Parts: sequence; structure tokens; C-alpha cells
Amino acid sequence: MEQTRLDLATYMSGSISRIMANAYKNVLSNPREEKFAFRMQQLFAKSEKRRKKVQEKEGIDVPPFLISSISTTCNLHCKGCYARSNGIANDQEAERKATMTPQQWQQIFTEAADMGINFSLLAGGEPMMRKDILEAVAEVKDMIFPIFTNGTLIGPSYIEFLRKHLNMVPIISIEGTAMGTDERRGQGVFKRTMQSMELLKQEDLFFGTSITVTTENYQMVTSSEFIDRLRSYGCKIVFYIEYVPTEAGTEHLAFIDEHVAEMGVRQALQSPLFRKIRAARALGWEHTGGCTLFEHREEIEEMISPCLS
Ligand code: SF4
Repeated sequence: MEQTRLDLATYMSGSISRIMANAYKNVLSNPREEKFAFRMQQLFAKSEKRRKKVQEKEGIDVPPFLISSISTTCNLHCKGCYARSNGIANDQEAERKATMTPQQWQQIFTEAADMGINFSLLAGGEPMMRKDILEAVAEVKDMIFPIFTNGTLIGPSYIEFLRKHLNMVPIISIEGTAMGTDERRGQGVFKRTMQSMELLKQEDLFFGTSITVTTENYQMVTSSEFIDRLRSYGCKIVFYIEYVPTEAGTEHLAFIDEHVAEMGVRQALQSPLFRKIRAARALGWEHTGGCTLFEHREEIEEMISPCLS
């Protein structure tokens, strides 16, 4: 069991370093980005040692990266939106879930970086609707923040922000084709994302795309023609996200941010639920695709009930 845990941690750590090293190979023509990539690679090596030290000293398994939902609002209404269907994103301010303040987020990431975590995906809702939070967390210079965005809000103001903070990396969501993107995200969205990519390319800024992979589009979006097209847009990294079916009634499975706000990262990683998930070796469960925890929701619900009582 010990061997499985350690192998998984090493594998995850190695994956992040490999992804970043490969992605930043594409910036050798840009001295600013190259300098930044070099500093981050040195830091990644140190951080792995720091995570091991926390594990040995405090018995806490520190993950190499986090996924943080920083926004509960969005300017689009995409079909099958995960954030809207589970109540994370809402147009009505009164009905939105409470979010943490920019200062709280900055504190969380400062603590995370101190524990050896230097990578957090920022999601939402639409994270670019919360420039106040992005500005605060950008100051945590030992972390890289891929911002998972619909790409429609990138204009001169965000370009200036991204030029100033190379640790903030936009990852623009598209569905593969113009028709597919507009069909899911709304008329004109694909064109708007292309304009954003053009702006980023003109400024020689590092950015990527994220593509939801389905049984219908996987051949097209993984073809070399498609990857070449993304490269021609200036895109340096691609994230493939498995489609996850969503259903009302499973909101309680989420680890809500109020807990992190109250406890901090160190204590949250030792929550009864996280400890039970690790003890059950849930990350190694057999699954047929999509989200492992969703597929095994009955076991997870059993774990959650005593934690809530
Ligand atoms: S951009 Fe993202 S958060 Fe906004 S509606 Fe679309 S899928 Fe949902």
C-alpha cells in the first residue's frame, strides 16, 4: 500500500515537470519567457524535496498541484456547463455561493507554495470575471497559474496584466471547430476566442487551449492536422479534458472552499474525507473513463456521511 502511494506521488510530480519542460521548450525565442521557465524548473526540483519533507515530518501527503474554483459567475451560458449545473456559477448575485476574498486566496497559495506546491489551475465559473483575485494571486511568484478561461474577456487590459505576470497562463477553452464551439458556447464565441489568441500571439505571450474530449470528437482533436492548426494560432500547450456527465443532487460531493478558508491547505489535506479517500486507495480504483469519484459515488457517499455528522 505504501509503495502504491509513493509511486502515484512520484508519477504525478514527474508528469507536471515533464509537461512544463516540454511546453516551455516552445519559448526559446522569447528571452523573458525563457528566463521565467528556467527559474520555475529550478523551483520545481526544490519543491519536490519540500513536499517529501512535509510528508516525512508531518505525515501529510502534499499534492504537486491544486485545482481552484475562484469565480462563481460567468459571462456565457454553455450547454452542459458543469459549473452552472452543480451550482458553482450563477448569474444572480444573491444565489451565488460565498467565495473567498482575494486576500484569502493569496494566503492559501502562499501556504501552498511554502509546502512545495507550485501549480494551481484556476477555474470557475469564468476566472477572468475576478480580476481582483487574479491580481492578488499573481503576486505569489513561486506558483504558476493556468487560467482556464472561455477566452472572451482578453483585451488590452488583460494583455497588460499577462505581460506583467508571466506566472499567469491563459488556457482558452474551445470545442475543436468553429461550429462546435458556437453550438455549445453561443454564436460568435469562436471568433472572439480567435481574436484573443491573435492578441496573445502578437505579444508573444505563453498560452494554451483546453478541449473537452468526447466519443464524437476525440479523433479530430487529437489529429496532427488539428494540433498543427493550434500551433499556427500561437498555442503552446493543449489540455485534453474528459467529458464528465453532471447530474443534480451530487453537489455534496464537492469539497467546498469555505473549508479551505477556515482551515488552510495543511489542515484541509488531513480532512477526514481526504484521509478516507487515500486509505481506500480511491485514486487507483478501476474506472471506465470520466471522473473516478463520480463513478464510485456510492462508496464516496458512504465515506462522506460520517464526516458530515
Ligand atoms: S464558459 Fe465555462 S463556466 Fe462559463 S458557461 Fe461556459 S462552461 Fe460554464
